Amino acid sequence: MTMDNNDPVLIAPDGCTPYRQSSVTPEVSRPRHLLGVWAHPDDEAYLSAALMARTVEEGGRVTLVTLTDGEAGFSDDDPRPVDERARLRRLELLSAMARIGVTDVRFIGLPDGSVAQHGGELLVETIREIMCDIRPDVVVTFGPDGITGHDDHVHNSWAVTRAWAGVGIGDLWYAAKTQSWLDEWRQVHDEFGVWMAGEPAGLDPDDAVMLLEPTGAELDRKRAVLGEHQSQTTAIATALGEDSYRSWIRQEAFRRPSPVDLAAVVGSGSHQVLSGVS
Ligand SMILES: [Zn+2]
Repeated sequence: MTMDNNDPVLIAPDGCTPYRQSSVTPEVSRPRHLLGVWAHPDDEAYLSAALMARTVEEGGRVTLVTLTDGEAGFSDDDPRPVDERARLRRLELLSAMARIGVTDVRFIGLPDGSVAQHGGELLVETIREIMCDIRPDVVVTFGPDGITGHDDHVHNSWAVTRAWAGVGIGDLWYAAKTQSWLDEWRQVHDEFGVWMAGEPAGLDPDDAVMLLEPTGAELDRKRAVLGEHQSQTTAIATALGEDSYRSWIRQEAFRRPSPVDLAAVVGSGSHQVLSGVS
């Protein structure tokens, strides 16, 4: 990132070392340094693989943070011990990210299924330190609905939003799904019991800050990323059939937090001092 000496120097409100305004502009259409923070290995692939791939391809950087190792994502009768399951999912994630040139992968190691119990203000502080260290211009994570309603996802959203609000660096984007996508795939979601807290609210495409629907080689690449998460994706890809699975995984949509979203996490009025909020 180049910085002009005439850029105004700002001090982050939390005491991050000085940074320059040119590195924190919210009017970003393509991330230059994308930070993704997700609860489990494979969340990042379903929700942002194409965005990460494009960012890398266009010369940007990607830092990926995964809160848990995903050791709970196996059937109850799986014979492998917990540490072996965790190791497998870490390796799957690293292989998936290697497909798109993402090498800065950071594991927080919270227990899968217990992010809320183990990830309070200490997790907020951990994420805040990463933000201060790498200074992303875009942070992607779950919105307050956690997409699927998984409690780890919901708390992931809370912690990232709280950290971002305290730092005031860059733009925050929540993963979402458009209403038309939800309508198209409702029968599949009902059949597989995807929504743990009911279907999430659909996104109006006009409210999206980024909406990707890759085709061709880009979609092939996203499919390859998901294929590396074998323990999580083989069964559903087989059940749906390859063509349907490829169609189902295509959409990546993001929105900015609303004032209501921010007030729920950091208190009413706080959004007024934050950058990039619309
Ligand atoms: Zn997840």
